[in-house]
Amino acid sequence: MKEAVMYSKLKNGVRCNLCARRCVIQEGESGFCRVRTLRDGVLYSSVYGLIDGMAADPIEKKPLFHFAPGSRTFSISTSSCNFRCQFCLNYHSSQRETPVGERLEPADIVSLAKRYDCSGLSYTYTEPTIFMELAHDTAKIAHEEGMYNTFVTNGYMTTEAIDYIAPYLDAATVDFKGSGNKEFYKNYMSVPKVEPIFDALAHMKEKGVFVEITNLIIPEIGDHEDDTRAMASWIEENLGSLTPLHFTAFSPMYKMTHLPSTPASTLERHIKIAKDAGLVFVYSGNIPGHDYENTFCPSCGYKAVERWSVYMKKNNLREDGHCPKCGHDLNIAGAKWMGQGTGLLRF
Ligand code: SF4
Repeated sequence: MKEAVMYSKLKNGVRCNLCARRCVIQEGESGFCRVRTLRDGVLYSSVYGLIDGMAADPIEKKPLFHFAPGSRTFSISTSSCNFRCQFCLNYHSSQRETPVGERLEPADIVSLAKRYDCSGLSYTYTEPTIFMELAHDTAKIAHEEGMYNTFVTNGYMTTEAIDYIAPYLDAATVDFKGSGNKEFYKNYMSVPKVEPIFDALAHMKEKGVFVEITNLIIPEIGDHEDDTRAMASWIEENLGSLTPLHFTAFSPMYKMTHLPSTPASTLERHIKIAKDAGLVFVYSGNIPGHDYENTFCPSCGYKAVERWSVYMKKNNLREDGHCPKCGHDLNIAGAKWMGQGTGLLRF
């Protein structure tokens, strides 16, 4: 147990200011995420140093296609989440009532990352906001060792939380579902509002965190063309037309096994809408072999990065991340960590 960061005392309990839920927590109780508990007037994180999942992944699996492409990233998570998505891929960890895991301190995690030849770390699988203290302390050590840090997040964090992690956070994948449709978030994810996600995205940009965005399209319940149009326009206006946007396909999962998988044609519809709104780098996900997994130079059309699923097949980028044919800027960040592609390492 470690004392939590970012909470304020109230007359009767405390308020947690880490995520946009801003839970009021009374003595002996926990917040919505189940892993921040008030004992004797002190708020504690019960997942500090308790690692529920870890693997050495290709950075493309996050997905991050424009940050340190081709590198290997040491990925960790703890139990629980601040969302209740009924289609969660990692529900066995994210929806666990009591946290479990292997005891590892931040320095141990960075040592493991180095042992498995990773260029950086990713805080992922469940929601890193709820294990912020662990992510922060690990990320600080990783930076001292010259490694990068990335979050895969639902974006439901406060601006104070972003201020806290931003000095050590190089990149983030912010995951939308159902194109950010408000009713979808309420009905299938138990999330009362989506505005804090857009605020967080804008604040990350202000703080210099490189951002890519994903959007899970679910047939029948989360296939909203108007919301995709609005989201893509917002991204273009507020984050810039070069911001990568990934449309990912759903597979039947958890409480949503009655729904069909998302066909490629559905993703292609949404990709076209995003491109029409002015976005340059729009990708498909979870449809292995689709042409929209590759990065094409928008100036000369050259295939700068070839991928298959979450694997890089060929990195044709110049050392500075520009197009090797015409020199065009392809909005590649973290080029100093760039690699030639890597497989999955599970342990
Ligand atoms: S992290 Fe979010 S869900 Fe968890 S206690 Fe804090 S405000 Fe509540």
